[in-house]
Amino acid sequence: MTTQIVYSEEFNKHNNPGHPENAQRLNAMINEINKSAIKSKLDFIKPEILPEKILYETHSEWMIENIKNLSLEEGGWIDLDTYVCQSDYETARLAADGMLQACNNVLNQDAENAFALVRPPGHHATINHSMGFCLFNNIAIAANQITKKGKKILIYDFDVHHGNGTQEIFYNRNDVLYQSTHLSPHYPGTGNIDEIGKDEGKGYTMNAPLYYGKGDKAVSKILDEIFLPVAKQFKPDIILFSAGYDSHHMDTLGGLKLTANFYGKIIEKYQKIQPKIVLTLEGGYNLNWIGKCLISQLGQMINQKIKIKDSTAENSNIDEIIAKLKNKLKKYWEI
Ligand SMILES: [Zn+2]
Repeated sequence: MTTQIVYSEEFNKHNNPGHPENAQRLNAMINEINKSAIKSKLDFIKPEILPEKILYETHSEWMIENIKNLSLEEGGWIDLDTYVCQSDYETARLAADGMLQACNNVLNQDAENAFALVRPPGHHATINHSMGFCLFNNIAIAANQITKKGKKILIYDFDVHHGNGTQEIFYNRNDVLYQSTHLSPHYPGTGNIDEIGKDEGKGYTMNAPLYYGKGDKAVSKILDEIFLPVAKQFKPDIILFSAGYDSHHMDTLGGLKLTANFYGKIIEKYQKIQPKIVLTLEGGYNLNWIGKCLISQLGQMINQKIKIKDSTAENSNIDEIIAKLKNKLKKYWEI
């Protein structure tokens, strides 16, 4: 069995050279794969354009029509951060299908694990609003389809920004468990400890908001003491990751201090719970580092660990957040 990369050059049609979320990001990552020793171990496949009706199962008609109309014209801006290019209605559906295909291939055992190397990203897109560089919520669209097959899904979002869209979409559900570590205070302002889900979904959303400067040790402790023990009890059929490399210590839009090697470590930790894993690209804006973070994860996925020269100092004291989070969640999980 192989590790699949779902990728298309068509994603570069979504581009604004003056914007941090531009076509250079995927180019930098593909270049890093091409010069690495692991390229021959990866199976590249192409996405297709997601059927419109699947979009409607996650997003509102108003939101979908808005992107469709801007895309049919000359493109434009949804908000101060989020641009739409001509033909983005196709490009954004190509990205969503990329993640859905990756998930289906892993569930059907056509691939051992997979990475949807797609743009535009998705985790800020809510039911009603495209925002934060995101048009459609790729990970949520895929998760919504898989749960129809009766599968339980764990999503871990390690982007430096909180995945407000993904959280909102699954906030009252107990078949999708959402875990996030993110910088706080920071965009988009959500992801507090007391946001734990509602109704049936109570206890199935968990947020670890981290102050500036927290890094590998702090995140590792949150995973080991809370997120992984909960994951074990939840017994997911598949684990999905919102892979945002803007939590790396050199990122221009970040403030956390993860190192490149730690991204591989995250995969290693979650693989022990469920080896069926699929990642989708979210943020990450330092073109010198995003490819290295990706290679660290792909190395772990093909079982060929790659050591990258990278270190930084961090403020690792996380006891207060852990205590508060345990207190919030202990009613629902043994932690
Ligand atoms: Zn981000």
